[in-house]
Amino acid sequence: MKLEIEHLRKEYGEKVALHDFNITLEEGIYGILGPNGAGKSTLMNLLTDNLKRTSGNILVNGKEILSMGKEYRAMLGYVPQQQGFYEHFSAEGFLKYVGKLKGCSNAELKKQVPELLASLNLYEKRFEKIGSFSGGMKQRVLIAQSLLGNPKIIIMDEPTAGVDPQERIRIRNFISQIAENRIILVATHIVSDVESIAREILLMKNGRMQEKGTPSELMRKIQPYIYEIQIDSQQQKEVMETYLVSNVRQGIEGIKVKIITKVKPEQYPHMVAPANLEDVYLYYFEHKTSNPTSTNV
Ligand code: ADP
Ligand code: MG
Repeated sequence: MKLEIEHLRKEYGEKVALHDFNITLEEGIYGILGPNGAGKSTLMNLLTDNLKRTSGNILVNGKEILSMGKEYRAMLGYVPQQQGFYEHFSAEGFLKYVGKLKGCSNAELKKQVPELLASLNLYEKRFEKIGSFSGGMKQRVLIAQSLLGNPKIIIMDEPTAGVDPQERIRIRNFISQIAENRIILVATHIVSDVESIAREILLMKNGRMQEKGTPSELMRKIQPYIYEIQIDSQQQKEVMETYLVSNVRQGIEGIKVKIITKVKPEQYPHMVAPANLEDVYLYYFEHKTSNPTSTNV
């Protein structure tokens, strides 16, 4: 299966939220990583046809989604960014309701609803009102409904928003389990949500794709800029002001600071340090504003 996005553009009045966006997606998990306002939700709303595009094409196996109508809806699962949905429904009632809207048969729902509730650890609470659930449980209900009807394309907009770290891991593992034979897009601003599960990461900022690649490709690209320097406590303030700092740790011989810089930090004892995806995020999305004349990243 192939999902092609060609020259996709979205304007909200004067504001261009998405510029000339192009990518071809095949089966697997794609992480869309970017800060707030990057255009992630806009992209997702265009893909689910909840929003009218300004221009461009979206094709599934060569067919424009706008001409597919129901056929496309049946292929699609969507986890929206907002919660606050149908608080008075029970978890089971909500899944049945959404299933009906999606056109699932009663027989299908009878089988699939309990299965989904069980796999998302909601079975015991299936008769309880969604309004009484924690943020993480609500998020799991949203993920469960997206899978009704066994869609082949799943769009998840910040599926771990407002959940605790344990729940975050559970959700991540679940996404990874359901990825076979599906295209899954996960928008997030949390690196660890996608770093171990995504085949490719798209980095988005200001409505544009800044970079894309496998996690290791992205890390390799910035590896030349990653160092660990050793400093004492008097130097800490200056270092924090001068460099893009990815990590600080207390070593036996002093403070070790992992920095991202295009200029070798010769003035400190330094060594090359392994890049990780957090560093990639910082490199593309964080800037040192305190020292605009600096040649550091
Ligand atoms: P993200 O999901 O990455 O946080 P969004 O797609 O929500 O980003 O927003 C992208 C940009 O478009 C932001 O600058 C946002 O303020 C703007 N925007 C989003 N929705 C609207 C809207 N309905 N009207 C005007 N501007 C919008
Ligand atoms: Mg968003």
